This record gives sequence, structure tokens and C-alpha cells, in this order.
Amino acid sequence: MAVSVGLVAQVIENIAPKYWAEEWDNVGLLVGSGSKPVKRILLCLDCTLEVVEEAKAFDAQLILAHHPIIFKPLKNLRADNGAAQVPLRILQYDIACYAAHTNLDQSNISSSKVLGKLLGLEKIELLERIYDNRDDQLERGYGVYGYLKESHKFGVVWKDFLDKLKKSRVYAQDYELSGVRLAGSLDKEIRKIAIVNGSGGRFVPKALFKGADLLITGDVDHHALLDALDGSLAIADLGHFLSEAPMLQSLYEHLTAEKALQGVEIRVSSVNRSPWL
Ligand SMILES: [Zn+2]
Repeated sequence: MAVSVGLVAQVIENIAPKYWAEEWDNVGLLVGSGSKPVKRILLCLDCTLEVVEEAKAFDAQLILAHHPIIFKPLKNLRADNGAAQVPLRILQYDIACYAAHTNLDQSNISSSKVLGKLLGLEKIELLERIYDNRDDQLERGYGVYGYLKESHKFGVVWKDFLDKLKKSRVYAQDYELSGVRLAGSLDKEIRKIAIVNGSGGRFVPKALFKGADLLITGDVDHHALLDALDGSLAIADLGHFLSEAPMLQSLYEHLTAEKALQGVEIRVSSVNRSPWL
């Protein structure tokens, strides 16, 4: 039986149901048809114009993106509207586009969980567990926290983490690990660590409440950072892209292990990288 866009969506929604997504989010099939047959899939965090060109060259029928290509209401399709260019190009090439965003962030394959395991954290728990009224077997929530076997200075913990990142397979591509920003004393003893992929500034109070010594995240704004430091919480800001890219590899592994998708060629984008120089 031919694989359709709808079947791929089902495989993703089995681990990250659409109803988990935040109200302000825009997940699911955003461009194309659910009945479209799929032979090749390209995975990315950001479906940029470069990624669309890569998908065309790969002859992909479907792009799976973490960030929705239509997010704020699209009011026109003008040539000078930056937000309109990707939807226009993707339509022109007849490629479908599906987004798994805040629902994937809460899933078992989130970057936070991958990075927590990579650090070797013990007694890992969700940082913000979400409960709902549905009879759901899947535990869900944002971020994780856990403990190192023993405490070490921030500088030592961070060097060890970067070494592990370089040697591991949590990234599908060879990304440049520069641009990471640290705040707090490098001599501070670290034992309890919280991790939130993506924009983690809003989780600073939660990490403080849990008594974390360090929060590893991306995109912390100035004021959230000052609050963290006043509460004696060290911050490691990997940048938005690097903090979320592990989800590409874990999603790739989830999809390639799925029997229903056997025969479909799946690739992680090689051109989708942090947009910062
Ligand atoms: Zn994100």
C-alpha cells in the first residue's frame, strides 16, 4: 500500500497528538493534501526557502518541519512579504508541509529528553508536566530536570557536555557548536540540571522552583536571564536551533523504525542550520 501524507501524520500523532499543541500554535498539515502519495520525506526545524529547494532536488513529496511555516495570520501573498515566500514556493513545487511543534516538544522524543539522557542525568522528571481530562496513556510536558551523579563546577560540567555533544549522534548533521552563551559563575557547583529546548526563558521560574543549579536552553531574553542569576540559577543558552536540533534525529529514528513507512526514503535537511553567523 502506498504511503500517504495522512499516514505519515498518523505516525507522528501517535507519539505527539495534535490536541497537545498550544492554542496559539498552528500544527498539522499546513500545505498540500493528506491523500498525496509519499516516497521521500525531508525533515527540518525551519522550512526556509533553501530547505524547499533542497526538498525539490531530493524529489520529496513532504517536508516535516518543527516550526510551522504559517504561524501568524498570513494576510497577503505579496512579493515583499517575507512570511509569504515559503508557502508560495512550496505550492509552486507541489510539496506538502506538515508541522509538529509544541505537541512534539511535549513528547517522549523531545530534545530536552534527548539532551537529558546525553548528560547522564539521573531521576529524570518532566519540568512542567501537563495533565488533561482525556484518558491518555502518554505522559507529556515541557522540559526535564534531573541530577548528575555528583556535583562539579559549571565550567567542568559544560566542557563535558560539549564533548558529549560532539561525540554523540544526537545531531543528524555536523553543526558548528559556537555561539553558545553561558551566564553565572563557572566555579558554581552544579548537580541539579533543568533542560528546556527552544525559547526557555519562560521556564526560569519553574527551574528556580525545582531548585535547579543550571538551566540549559535556547533564546533566553535579557530580563529572564537577570531573574535567573538573581535566583542563583546558572544559564547555558545553546541558541534556539542547537537546543532543538536533537529532535530531528529522534524524529528520524522514530519514522525509520515504523513498519508502515518502510520503503519511504527519509532525510534530515543538510542546509537547515542556525541562521546566526
Ligand atoms: Zn522552536
